[in-house]
Amino acid sequence: MTIKIGPAGTGGDSYKGLQMIKEAGLDAVEIEFVRGVKMSNETAKKIGELNKKLGLILSIHAPYYINLNSEEKPKIEASKQRILQSCERGHHLGARCIVFHASYYGKSTPEECYDATKEAIIGMQKKIKENEWDVILCPETTGKGSQFGTVDELVKLSRETGCGICVDFAHVYARNNGRIDYDDVMGKIKRIKHLTAHFSGINFTAKGERNHELTPPERIRELYKYLKKYNISITIINESPDPMGDALKMKRMLKEV
Ligand SMILES: [Zn+2]
Repeated sequence: MTIKIGPAGTGGDSYKGLQMIKEAGLDAVEIEFVRGVKMSNETAKKIGELNKKLGLILSIHAPYYINLNSEEKPKIEASKQRILQSCERGHHLGARCIVFHASYYGKSTPEECYDATKEAIIGMQKKIKENEWDVILCPETTGKGSQFGTVDELVKLSRETGCGICVDFAHVYARNNGRIDYDDVMGKIKRIKHLTAHFSGINFTAKGERNHELTPPERIRELYKYLKKYNISITIINESPDPMGDALKMKRMLKEV
């Protein structure tokens, strides 16, 4: 069991951010393209070079404006482009997992949404292969009932397409009205080949996720208990409003495991 920990985002300047994260003793960081892919390939290459010395595990969070099950074809194409741009930058950065919220059910049944999402993922995997980008698509478990992305849906998608998955444990918790059956979740994800995770506290309503909150220590302990029980190796990105502080807290608490 290996647990690697880091924050979501580099806190502005990527060069300084990566160095600071390394110096703080953390292992990983998720580069945020959530409001658009604004980094150039050149910059991605430079940051990737720097990180070869630092050795941090990098992942990418692709833009939020993605729906692979849109009723409008151009929106599906634009969504794929945003993910593929994230893949290209990710390749230059040396990031492996490209995380994204795949789709919304909209008027579709969950099965129709699954099929549309799967088709789009397979299409993007072809492009990734053609371009020889060394990255893995990792759709994320989502926090709202309107969004595609239950643990079951993603595990099936991974089995059928070979994609990885990102398990946001806070989203699973919010989606189920403040409950998470860790035995069920860990049992399902333990055989996923490319597994990454998000963690934080979370505020939710009957409709699911509202906003991420600071990470309660008792929730961290609970998570570690089950990662240990199922012998799961994973990289955990903290997405709380204080991602650096909470990632350090999680790293310190690893000593209790
Ligand atoms: Zn996310």
